[in-house]
Amino acid sequence: MTSLECPTCGGRFDLSLSVAVPFCSHRCRQIDLGRWLDEKQTLPVFKDPDEDPPEDPPSWDETDG
Ligand SMILES: [Zn+2]
Repeated sequence: MTSLECPTCGGRFDLSLSVAVPFCSHRCRQIDLGRWLDEKQTLPVFKDPDEDPPEDPPSWDETDG
């Protein structure tokens, strides 16, 4: 017997009895899916590194050396 912990409700369930692995039930799977989609909608868009303004190179004083 293998028991897993449901990522949605945190309850432990028997892997062989689950119908919606890795969730304990279809309901928990739907909840998690809903969260995932919702987060995807609200997450900030990752900017391309190319769009970042170029950093000025550090200015070195030639007096030291
Ligand atoms: Zn669950």
